[in-house]
Amino acid sequence: MKEKILIVEDEKDIVKMLEYNLKKEGFRTVATGNGEDALDLVKRKQPDLIILDLMLPGMDGLEVCKGVRKENTAVYIPIIMLTAKSQEPDKIVGLELGADDYMTKPFSPRELIARIKAILRRVNKKEKLPEILKIGELSVDFSKIRVTVNNKLVELTAKEFELLKALIKAKGRVLSRDYLLDAIWGVDNAMEIQTRTVDVHIQTLRKKLKGGAEHIVTVKNYGYRFE
Ligand code: CA
Repeated sequence: MKEKILIVEDEKDIVKMLEYNLKKEGFRTVATGNGEDALDLVKRKQPDLIILDLMLPGMDGLEVCKGVRKENTAVYIPIIMLTAKSQEPDKIVGLELGADDYMTKPFSPRELIARIKAILRRVNKKEKLPEILKIGELSVDFSKIRVTVNNKLVELTAKEFELLKALIKAKGRVLSRDYLLDAIWGVDNAMEIQTRTVDVHIQTLRKKLKGGAEHIVTVKNYGYRFE
């Protein structure tokens, strides 16, 4: 799946330029010019990285940054801040608040993309899966796509396996139903009825995993976590 970048910027020309360049590099994008919306999108869409402008109408970039770092499901999402030259002090505050990098406007899209890729490479390296995960009676072999519980083979559908893999890969982080639907079924902008698809698959997955199902925890009205 292509990584999803959230652009938080109220200047439409910059948004367009970013969308164009990111899409050209194969990224998917979501954009908003509003801080409150940004926090909502972070929660529902769980982007892989956030490009955050400091100067926003209403809730500013620093507050958004603080909000993201407070959000349980989002503390880990890398943030690259966009700042104007005159905002040097804010930039330092931003880094203290947990932004990963910053770029001063005007910036070259090529430079920004290089930094995005560097950050994502770092994150992906950290999230690399073991070849086989063994936890309690559950054993998942990622290379053979094989799951056993108490040494008995469990027949999972491709979607069920992907679901289990996504949850394991998140290492204890909660994944929203929106995120899972997008990651596994490729449904962006899901409607409520579609997010139930995730619940139904989790249900059958749990049934099949029997004792191994205790590792899949429901976070009410939001999503799931692997423990
Ligand atoms: Ca701005």
